[in-house]
Amino acid sequence: MTGPPRITESVSRAAEVLLNGGIIGMPTETVYGLAACALDERAVNRVFTTKGRPKNHPLIVHLASLEQCMDWGVFSTSAIALGNAFWPGPLTLLVERTELVPNWVTGNRDTVALRVPQHEATLELLRQVNTGVVAPSANKFGRVSPTTALHVLSDLGDDVDLILDGGSCEFGIESTIVECIGSEIRILRPGAITASDIFDVLGDSPALDSTDSRAPGMLASHYSPVARVVLCETPEQAENLSAQSEMQGVKTRMLWHEDAGEYAERLYSDLRAADEESCEIVFAVLPEADGIGVAIRDRLTKAAHHA
Ligand code: AMP
Ligand code: MG
Repeated sequence: MTGPPRITESVSRAAEVLLNGGIIGMPTETVYGLAACALDERAVNRVFTTKGRPKNHPLIVHLASLEQCMDWGVFSTSAIALGNAFWPGPLTLLVERTELVPNWVTGNRDTVALRVPQHEATLELLRQVNTGVVAPSANKFGRVSPTTALHVLSDLGDDVDLILDGGSCEFGIESTIVECIGSEIRILRPGAITASDIFDVLGDSPALDSTDSRAPGMLASHYSPVARVVLCETPEQAENLSAQSEMQGVKTRMLWHEDAGEYAERLYSDLRAADEESCEIVFAVLPEADGIGVAIRDRLTKAAHHA
């Protein structure tokens, strides 16, 4: 045990809690998930109520291998190629579901989202539970995703049975979601695996389509800190606006890292830090729409959208 008693590094303890119908904070290389066994309706219901997440927002099922994923979804040749190339890793594949997959996971859809995460402790956990595990981000619905065990503790506290501490998340931004049904390949949510990574494997450019009918839950204002997020085109613009606000007594924070990988990794903890410091405005510089910069722009745009 490290820190408060409900945070643990013991994978076998975490597996035991999951197999007994509990819900846990689970590390991945993207963000921390709120995990439950996918076939356990009661536990999955607790995930929805704990997060305050609408029931029609389907969940991603996490498994230990591509082979296991094939029991849950119907894989085309392209889906197999993508799974082989990027799993374990920050890629979620949306495929047709098999009979194994219950409606409470998919929001009654006939498709299922599957992923093999690239995190040693979590892969070991998935091998030990030996079944699919749902794991939406371990935060209240619409809020900033957690990238450390302490973020999970501060958001969900006593509502989770245990938090498996696997350090801070390597990528810091949710997985790329790719719909891979028949010959259609579409990116439904940008992430660390980019369109050009997918092109390199398939020799085809995927379309980008994040409309709500394809991927419910993506259009709402998500990822929002309490502070207002104002998007800026350049660091100079952010600096100027920030200086002007500070002169009027408004507490601000600037969000910008030159290295896009570092920007992604620190994005959510920086947004959380702004709230902890009671900042009123975050001036966030949009990175170039290139590589993981596409995903950062997507999350910042949503963070800036106050519904
Ligand atoms: P997350 O909240 O990061 O766990 O990602 C879940 C998102 O994946 C959902 O909000 C949907 O946009 C998408 N998703 C998961 N399962 C499906 C599905 N069966 N059909 C369409 N989109 C899905
Ligand atoms: Mg989320």
